[in-house]
Amino acid sequence: MSALLEWWKENQDDFPWRETKDPWKILISEILLQQTQAKRMIPYYQRIIEASPTPKAMVENGEEYLLKLWEGAGYYRRARYLFKLAEMCQNGLPDNYEDWLALPGIGPYTAAAICSIAFNLNVSCIDGNVKRIISRLVGHNITKFSEFKRIADQLIDKARPGDWNQALMDLGRNVCKPANPNCDDCPLSEGCIGKQDPMSFSTPKKVKSKLMKVDCLVILGKDGTLNIRRKASGHLQNMWGFELTDRNEASFKEEEYCGNISHAFTHRKWDIDVYAKKTAKMLIVPGDVPMAKLDQKIRDIVLAWDVKRNNS
Ligand code: SF4
Repeated sequence: MSALLEWWKENQDDFPWRETKDPWKILISEILLQQTQAKRMIPYYQRIIEASPTPKAMVENGEEYLLKLWEGAGYYRRARYLFKLAEMCQNGLPDNYEDWLALPGIGPYTAAAICSIAFNLNVSCIDGNVKRIISRLVGHNITKFSEFKRIADQLIDKARPGDWNQALMDLGRNVCKPANPNCDDCPLSEGCIGKQDPMSFSTPKKVKSKLMKVDCLVILGKDGTLNIRRKASGHLQNMWGFELTDRNEASFKEEEYCGNISHAFTHRKWDIDVYAKKTAKMLIVPGDVPMAKLDQKIRDIVLAWDVKRNNS
């Protein structure tokens, strides 16, 4: 057994999706893992597979139900993709790399992860972590994907490709990290050329987020209902929320000011002044609908403002 797999036996991360070979569950875990930290995704994974143990069950529950379960995880486009895949695969999931790759929203990394873990197929997973490890191992800043692939295919353990890919993921997450790699405890240290100066290989630069200054006017009905609506487009499509207005085009009254919130997406930071206005008109009643964190913050600030105003 290679040094990496030996190390992984003792040091692997304990994730619930590691207990299954079911391609549907692995697909769900892989889509969730594209979000942020793996540990944060565990409750989402558990909720989703419990509600939808098969693609058919997901379709029967409906897209809005999935979006509700996904609430707070961000990247809602991925939830919509997952639902689309469930619709397409109700009669069975593919069992080979090419057919997985042909599905919408499935890239080489996800297809390789599913095929190697669920079907023990010899396909390497190559993401930012694996690229960094390979560049450091060979002591060279590789730029071409084909070169990463050539090396990754040489390294992979042909008898246990799924374990090998997962071991590399854990190594990138916990040992060969972007900053402060722990070379002293690394199972690949012996043959690693870049360990003398690992930080000079493939460490991604931080992208500066763009600050967006906007306003939001929330209409409150007499009974405290809100003018919430289902978003028809954009990255929060099919989620429920409020409309944002460019600050230069908005003019709201000072007495309607509820407060300011800031919210960060991957490459954008929002600075939002929230206003509210009372109306006697009938408004849409927000039931138990899926809302992104940003809209939950807006709703909470308006409801707190309303309670304060009614008590004063
Ligand atoms: S020895 Fe250091 S640089 Fe090389 S793979 Fe291990 S952690 Fe990364």
